Amino acid sequence: MGRAFVYVILGGGVAAGYAALEFSKRGVSNGELCIISEEPVVPYERPALSKGFLLPEAPARLPAFHTCVGANEERLTPKWYKEHGIELVLGTRVKSADVKRKTLLTATGETISYKILIIATGARALQLEEFGVNGSNAENVCYLRSLADATRLVEVMKSSTGGNAVVIGGGYIGMECAASLVTNKINVTMVFPEAHCMARLFTPKIASYYEDFYKSKGVKFIKGTVLSSFEKDADEKVTAVVLKDKNHLPTDMVVVGIGIRPNTSLFEGQLTLEKGGIKVNGMMQTSNTSVFAVGDVAAFPVKIFGEIRRLEHVDSARKSARHAVAAIMDPSRTFDFDYLPFFYSRIFSLSWQFYGESVGEVVHYGDFSGSTFGGYWVSKGYLVGSFLEGGTKEEYEAIAKATRLKPVVEDITELERQGLGFAVAV
Ligand code: FAD
Ligand code: NDP
Repeated sequence: MGRAFVYVILGGGVAAGYAALEFSKRGVSNGELCIISEEPVVPYERPALSKGFLLPEAPARLPAFHTCVGANEERLTPKWYKEHGIELVLGTRVKSADVKRKTLLTATGETISYKILIIATGARALQLEEFGVNGSNAENVCYLRSLADATRLVEVMKSSTGGNAVVIGGGYIGMECAASLVTNKINVTMVFPEAHCMARLFTPKIASYYEDFYKSKGVKFIKGTVLSSFEKDADEKVTAVVLKDKNHLPTDMVVVGIGIRPNTSLFEGQLTLEKGGIKVNGMMQTSNTSVFAVGDVAAFPVKIFGEIRRLEHVDSARKSARHAVAAIMDPSRTFDFDYLPFFYSRIFSLSWQFYGESVGEVVHYGDFSGSTFGGYWVSKGYLVGSFLEGGTKEEYEAIAKATRLKPVVEDITELERQGLGFAVAV
């Protein structure tokens, strides 16, 4: 049994949705394109799962956040794919790939062949078991990557109202879920190994602003330690979390956000890997010319840093996907991907954006006791990264533009004095 397509997108997440839109804009014919996804729904904006989806009042639900609403583009509903002659193979995992033969074998036993393949398999959440802690399959321990995870998290939250939650991990999932849990009237304790939250991006000063804000909402922080084991009742429900520092935290639920691993396994030994992802060139093309990779799974040259990087953020998933399709459909007029990394988050009433990279010396600016402040990262005499909390649309555009231009910074004290004005004037 088998079907053949010109273009196949493997994975049905953010990158797949944006690639589909780009294909349709560039004129793909009926029946030429197929999307295969393990998830049972058409591509959606995954960031909604830790934000609007978890709201206690009027939560976001599909079809409201199908791609590509997140970039103010058309919303691609199942009807849209049908009208555009795009074949959907949903709820179906691909279990092996043969890059030489250009075929994919699904878990249902179907062989799907392609002329061009776009790998958009994203990533999976790391499990506590991978760090030597057992028992994370308990019904009140939640991970958050897919719609199914988010649906389960909502159910567990509902049964824990007024109770306690332990959030493991101080990264993006930890911070956004902790805020949502509080909004759902659950008492939160966050546990993570670092000295402060968002350790890979935030400086201690920036982190302490957010931690103080969280504390004002009742969140407790236990830092510099990790989980050692769970205590469970007769129904195998977690009743307490035991930490390496011997702290014992009775709890009604646990949320785990300890990082991800890109889904590369189908291609290991067949394509070149780097930085944990599938290595591509500036056209998003892998070591096999018929295969492209985009989104979280792709390690691509970030021109502005002069280095191969793998990014785990929605903006790069959207843009790398569109770039791959441009490179496939119109190679002679497509140049190397030139991407400025962009990360953001919205938590409680707060909202920040970051552009570039967080290396080198940092200067802070603005009012850390108020609502608008930020930081600049300066490396080898150039501005390489900019952070801003509470900015206006124009101010965010200004820090993005300034970071993209990578201006020389002659006097760091002067940069600090000018603050946001520096970016606005660039
Ligand atoms: P994904 O969106 O993960 O899609 C991968 C798809 O491939 C999935 O549908 C998966 O089921 C499928 N798949 C994988 N393997 C197979 C297989 N073998 N067979 C069939 N299908 C397969 N980033 C931000 O910048 N801002 C945010 O606010 C933000 N919020 C987030 C909130 C949450 C809860 C999560 C989990 C992530 C968030 N991110 C955010 C990160 C962002 O969502 C990802 O960077 C983005 O989804 C990556 O897109 P992708 O298409 O590469 O992968
Ligand atoms: P992150 O990498 O952001 O954070 C993981 C956190 O868990 C880090 O603080 C990490 O510490 C800590 N950690 C690692 N191992 C352990 C352990 N054994 N016990 C306790 N803590 C541990 O990953 P997330 O899981 O938060 O996010 C998953 C993905 O979702 C990422 O790709 C992220 O970009 C994406 N996402 C993005 C959002 C956004 O951009 N706004 C929102 C939500 C998700 P250490 O640094 O020491 O490893």
